[in-house]
Amino acid sequence: MIRTHYSTQITPDMKESVTICGWAHEIRDLGGITFLVVRDREGLVQVTLFKKTIDKNLLEIVRNLSRESVVAITGTIKKEAKAPNGYEVVPTEVKVLGKADSPLPMDTTGKVDADLDTRLDVRFMDVRRPYTQAIFRIRHLILKSIREYLDNDGFLEITTPKVVATATEGGTALFPITYFEREAFLNQSPQLFKQLMMSGGLDRVFEIGPIFRAEEHDTRKHLNEATSIDIEASFLNNEDVMVILENLVKYIYMKVQEKGATYLKTLGVELKIPEIPFKRITYSEAIEIARKNGEKIEWGDDLSTESEHTIGKTIGEHYFIVDWPSKIKPFYALPYEDKPELCRAFDMMHPRMELSSGAQRVHSYEMLRDRIEAQGLNPDGFEFYLKAFKYGMPPHSGWGVGAERLLMTMLGIENIREVVLFPRDRKRLSP
Ligand code: ATP
Ligand code: MG
Repeated sequence: MIRTHYSTQITPDMKESVTICGWAHEIRDLGGITFLVVRDREGLVQVTLFKKTIDKNLLEIVRNLSRESVVAITGTIKKEAKAPNGYEVVPTEVKVLGKADSPLPMDTTGKVDADLDTRLDVRFMDVRRPYTQAIFRIRHLILKSIREYLDNDGFLEITTPKVVATATEGGTALFPITYFEREAFLNQSPQLFKQLMMSGGLDRVFEIGPIFRAEEHDTRKHLNEATSIDIEASFLNNEDVMVILENLVKYIYMKVQEKGATYLKTLGVELKIPEIPFKRITYSEAIEIARKNGEKIEWGDDLSTESEHTIGKTIGEHYFIVDWPSKIKPFYALPYEDKPELCRAFDMMHPRMELSSGAQRVHSYEMLRDRIEAQGLNPDGFEFYLKAFKYGMPPHSGWGVGAERLLMTMLGIENIREVVLFPRDRKRLSP
C-alpha cells in the first residue's frame, strides 16, 4: 500500500514520516513559499514547500502540477495552527500518480456553482466535492442502519430477480427487454417474490434493491430506476408492520445524527428526530383535509402531488394514511372483512411526499384470484405466484420504502436526482 494515513488520521505531534494520497485541490505559489493543498476522502492536507530549503526537483514537480491531478506525498509533520487539522506536511517525496488535464469540466472547490445537469454529466468530478460526497456518506449510513435494525429484529436479507416474466401488479408501465428468444421485463417491485418467501417459511425477510418503473413522468420525486427497501413478515398485521416502519425511521435518523454529524454539517442540515408513534389519519380524513384546503379531489381518487402537499402541510411531520379504498390499492392488499370497500393498506408520508406503501396481504388463494380478476388482470400470468397460496400460506404483511425519497426528505434536498449517483430518468441514460 502506498498510503500510510488519511488526512484525518494525522496529528500535529506525529514524529514518523507519513504518506498521504489524494487530489491536488489547490496550488498557491507565493515565491518564497509554495502551498499544495491535497484532498483525500476524509479532508484536506496542507503541503508546504519552503523555497530556501526544499529540493529543487520537488518544487518543480509541484509548481507544474495541474489541479485535480492525483499525487502521493511523503514527508514529515509540522505543527501549523492555521492549516486544516492543525498540521502541515513538509515533503521529502512527491509522486504524480495520475495527471489531470485542464481546463477541468467543473469546479471542485465549491467556489463556482454548477447546475445539476452539468454535475450529473461529470458525476465522477462532482463526487469529489465534499458537499456531494456527504450526501452519499449519509446514504451509506442509512442503508447500514437499516440492515442493523432489521437484522436485530430477526429479518433475513434476500435478493429476488430483477428480470421477470410478468408484471407485479399491472397498471404501472414496465421496461421490456429481450431474454434470449422471449420477451421479459425489468421488475417494478420485489412484491410477489417476497410474498412467496412467506409461503417458504422464511418468516421475516427484507431486500434492498433496484426497482424499475417505465412511467413517463418527469418530476422531482420520480426516477425510472430507484432503490426500494422492502420487508415482508408472517403472522403480523398491517398495524404491526407500521410499528416496525416508524421505529425503523426513528432509528435511522438517530444513527445518522450520531454517526453522520460531520456530513450533516457539510450539508448544512440540522436533523430533527421524528417522534413516534406517527400520527395515523384515514384516507377519508386525508381527502377531507385536501378538500377543505381547496383541492379538487373526490373520495376514491388517488392523492395528487398537490393534495399530498396540502395534507402534509396540515400535519407537519411524518404520518400514516390508513384504510384506503380497495379499488385504488393493488390486488394483494387485504380488504376489511366487515367493510370490503376499504383495505388494510397504508402509506407512510413525509410532509413533502409519500415515502412508503404497505399493507396486510390477501393470503387466501380464492380471494386473491378474485381480486386479480376484479382489477382486470389475467390470473394465468400469476400462476407461479398463486400456486404458493394453495399449499399453506400464513397471514402476512409488509411495506416498501424508496431509499432516495428517505434520503432527500431527510436532507431537505429538492430534486431526487441529486441523491442518486447515476440517475435514470426520461432523458438520462448516461453516465
Ligand atoms: P408515487 O405515487 O409517489 O409515484 P407509488 O405509490 O407509485 O409512488 P409504490 O409502488 O407504492 O410507489 O412504491 C413504494 C415506494 O417506492 C414509494 O412510496 C416510493 O418511496 C418508492 N418509489 C416508487 N416509485 C418510485 C419512483 N419512480 N422513483 C422513486 N421512488 C419511487
Ligand atoms: Mg404507493
